[in-house]
Amino acid sequence: MKDDQVIKILFVEDIPEDLELAKRKIKDNGIRFEAYLAQNEDEFLQGLYEFKPDIIISDYLLPEFDGMRALEYSLTYDSTVPFIILTGFINEEIAVDSIKAGATDYVLKERINRLPIAIKEAIKKKNVLLENKHATESLEFMSKVIEQSPYSIISTDMEGIITSWNKGAERTFGFTSREALGQHISLLYHDTDLDILNKDIIEPLLLNGYHQAQVNLKRKSGESFIGSLYLWLIKDMTGQSSGMVGYTLDITKRVKAEEELKIKDQAIEANIDGMALLELDGRISYVNNSALKMWGYDVKEEVIGRNVEEFFDTRYDRTEILEIIKHPGFKSERRALRKDGTVFPAWVSTTIIKDITGEPVAFMGSIIDATEKRKAEEALIESEKKYRLLAENTLDCIWLMDMNLVFTYVNPSIHSMFGYLPEEWIGSKLSDHCDEENFTIMMEAMKPGLKITSASPGSVFQVEMLKKNGDRIPVEILGKIVRGDDGVPIAINGTTRDITGRIHAEEALKESEERLKLAMTVSEHGFWDWNLDRNEFYFSPNSYTMFGYEDGEFPMSLEAWEKLMHPEDRKKILPEIIRSIKKGEHFSFEIRILSSSKEWRWVLAKGATFNEKSGTNRAIGTLVDITERKKNEEQMLLARIAAEEANRCKNGLLTNMNHELKTPLNSVIGYSDVLIDQNIKELDDKQKRYLQIINDAGYKLLNLINNVLDLAQIEAEGMGLKFSAFDPVKCIEEVIRNTKTLATKKKINIAVNIDESTTEITADVDKFKEILYNLVENALKFTPEKGNVIVNVKVENEEIEVSVEDTGIGIAEEDRERIFNPFIQVDSSSTKKYGGAGLGLVLVKEYLKMQNGNIWVEGEPGNGSKFTFRIPVYPRERSNEIQ
Ligand code: ADP
Repeated sequence: MKDDQVIKILFVEDIPEDLELAKRKIKDNGIRFEAYLAQNEDEFLQGLYEFKPDIIISDYLLPEFDGMRALEYSLTYDSTVPFIILTGFINEEIAVDSIKAGATDYVLKERINRLPIAIKEAIKKKNVLLENKHATESLEFMSKVIEQSPYSIISTDMEGIITSWNKGAERTFGFTSREALGQHISLLYHDTDLDILNKDIIEPLLLNGYHQAQVNLKRKSGESFIGSLYLWLIKDMTGQSSGMVGYTLDITKRVKAEEELKIKDQAIEANIDGMALLELDGRISYVNNSALKMWGYDVKEEVIGRNVEEFFDTRYDRTEILEIIKHPGFKSERRALRKDGTVFPAWVSTTIIKDITGEPVAFMGSIIDATEKRKAEEALIESEKKYRLLAENTLDCIWLMDMNLVFTYVNPSIHSMFGYLPEEWIGSKLSDHCDEENFTIMMEAMKPGLKITSASPGSVFQVEMLKKNGDRIPVEILGKIVRGDDGVPIAINGTTRDITGRIHAEEALKESEERLKLAMTVSEHGFWDWNLDRNEFYFSPNSYTMFGYEDGEFPMSLEAWEKLMHPEDRKKILPEIIRSIKKGEHFSFEIRILSSSKEWRWVLAKGATFNEKSGTNRAIGTLVDITERKKNEEQMLLARIAAEEANRCKNGLLTNMNHELKTPLNSVIGYSDVLIDQNIKELDDKQKRYLQIINDAGYKLLNLINNVLDLAQIEAEGMGLKFSAFDPVKCIEEVIRNTKTLATKKKINIAVNIDESTTEITADVDKFKEILYNLVENALKFTPEKGNVIVNVKVENEEIEVSVEDTGIGIAEEDRERIFNPFIQVDSSSTKKYGGAGLGLVLVKEYLKMQNGNIWVEGEPGNGSKFTFRIPVYPRERSNEIQ
């Protein structure tokens, strides 16, 4: 009885005080309850059916009713409801009777304290009773279930004797319960399996109390089946094993199906074709190894669960793969996408898997890698195309003739070769296309092929045939007899080739060979040809005659020619020639050959090596007589040496002159100077004038000698330059100062214009002054009295420009270049008038050239001259532009 339980108590009592007391006692004991009072039979029955009491507490004797009657009603109503008799008087007999009659307990009013305990015990008893009742009921139910179960449920005692046998067992094994009960369980096993029964079933069952096994069992008919056994030990109240119960399922079908499935699985796995199972939404639920490998994956987990569309290249197959596989019997070539992103052609076919109601549940796909197949197909198409192209486009005519020599096939080349269309040619006879003579040649040529019964290699022959327009055309024919299985000739096939071109080429070759031969004979050069593989030589007739020998006077061999070679050339040049030939290089050497008149002739031997198509090595070359050229060259060389020698002599002479001329001249100038300076009184005026003439002439001669020597030095080995930085203005002033005497004498005014750009320059200061002296002295010389001379100077573009302008006689256009050449004077008569040797400007020009400078002259005759020169402010490398 639970503590919080509110129990419904039906009281049967006529004395209110007693009722109150009972209630108090119950309440005091902590029992929570609800009370209902009945004082007569009607009230009791009403209470029983409507109040539905958990317990009844009843007085034994009532005025209108009594406790025994109430007990009777109560037991009829529900025997589990406890019934306690509560009475004021009692004897043992009544008590025993009432208990016997079914009352739960008996409590005296004078010992009312016991009532709550009696109630609690009664309720407890009632609960136990109820549990028992339920257990009995469920046991009965279970028995019925077991009895009726379609599955076989069998129990045995510990000896293995069958103690229960249900309907399922009857159906499974074929024995009725009457036949099975009391029999040993081995009844259900084959004799051979009895060992298994003990060892594999009973022993593990006893050990574990539970066992499961798959065994071979036997039906009453003797037929065996595979049973799945579930076994338990049954224990009694004391925990002792009292029996065994087993549950058997016939799983023969399932096992077979499983085995079949396993075999199928293995077949699918081992299949070289790829297989895949797809859910309806396209998710992959299974793939076999081949499919996995085809797509380049390693494990199935990488693939399973992913959508099939991820495995195809949908860029090109626009149609959704999932859409098309839904069409029954779908079969197509798709572009499959490997794990590494590469694509391969795959043949895909699918079937739809349906459940028993016909609803699709999955797709099954099989895949074949079509790469190899595709390659093979492409190769086939390619080779077919090639052959068709060959047949259609070959320049050769391909044809087939029956044994009556009527054409049955010809390729389109017939048109370009003979002018017929294939359809015009087919049906015509061979004899329509050639004259009698050529027809006979053909027949003769084909005869040997007709005689040989085995496969003949065919005959090749050249004939002339007729074009549609009647022209004759040279052809080469390859004809072959076609034989049937029995070896009898059935047709002739072959090719016809137009050899007009070849014949032309052959003729052209012959012509060109002849031309070459002619050319070699006509030309005065020799020609040779050396086949290196066979060591065969050919020397053209000229090779002999150009040296005065008869054509073929000595053998065409290297040795024979070697003997005629100059010993030096044989030693040095011949090995070089042979080395060049062997290396395949072009070569060109000059050698000497002894002529028949025993003089050495110079020869230019040129040649080259060729590798001919046939693989042979061949060297070809020419021999050209260059003796005359050599002689000329020698003479020219001698002339040059002589000229150089002469020049050297001249220079040597000049150097000597320097000493030999100047020494006496210095005496003439020196002593005449002394005489003039000392102003000797003994000399009369005439003597003094003569002395002055001697002195002037001495100076002029010295100047001339100096100029000539300078020029000679420049010409011979060049003159050294001494560079230094100086002020050009100072030089100009010095030159003007030193020529003042002449200027004053001729009353010529000399002016100097110095531009502010003028700077210090670096040059040969002596040469600079020399140039200025020459120009200023010339200006003074060629300018009449009271004239003007102006010297201008400026620096521009890193060059100093100096010009000397005069108001003198001027220079004609045609003389402006000339005057810079040695010994040139514009007017030879002026020699006397103006003096000089025509060397000044030559030196000026040379000095300027040495310093990368130049000079030019302007002015008209009668209008004065202007000489201008330029030199760099800093020395420069001498360049070629400046002349
Ligand atoms: P020369 O010693 O004869 O003067 P140059 O070489 O100096 O030799 O001059 C060559 C010739 O150039 C002169 O003879 C003269 O005819 C002409 N010449 C040179 N300078 C002038 C000038 N300033 N005016 C006119 N003619 C000139």
